[in-house]
Amino acid sequence: MTQVGHILTGAAIGMLCKPDRRQPKWLLTYFGVFLLLANIPDLPFKNWGHDRYDISHSIFVNLLLIAVAGIVLSLPKGFQSRIGGWKVMVGGTAAWLSHLLLDSFYNHGYGIAIFWPLSDARLTLPLPWFSVVTEQTFLAAEGLREYFTEFVFYGSFLAVASIIKWASANLPLKKRARAL
Ligand SMILES: [Zn+2]
Repeated sequence: MTQVGHILTGAAIGMLCKPDRRQPKWLLTYFGVFLLLANIPDLPFKNWGHDRYDISHSIFVNLLLIAVAGIVLSLPKGFQSRIGGWKVMVGGTAAWLSHLLLDSFYNHGYGIAIFWPLSDARLTLPLPWFSVVTEQTFLAAEGLREYFTEFVFYGSFLAVASIIKWASANLPLKKRARAL
């Protein structure tokens, strides 16, 4: 998956668990963090990302990092409530782990060695319309078509998430349910 798919999925998950705060600066930081979380397994560090696809795309390695990050972030008093509570923590975890699932959608069918180092088994859920964008194709028509495909496919997730969020905040369903 290119960053387009990961970014839109991160934004969609962020939208679903977004607290009702509206300060533009806070929202910018909030969504920036979600976009980053959804791309963590691909970050171009040494022995990480596509340099070591087995390590960076292992569910065990990522869960360990998430646990460490969760513990470190929970240390400062009141941090969790400042970022919006446990829902945001769960959403951030989902955004991070969504990366592994999305990468299994490539149509080359190689999948990802998600259980490394315990197993070489590969998670592969190829969708016919998702192909790899390489250095050679990322500015060619083939690459641009892939970006567009991901934009439409994952953009629809973000649109649905935005509608759900808007509806839950603006439709009188909650009030009616409380009144019953
Ligand atoms: Zn990846």
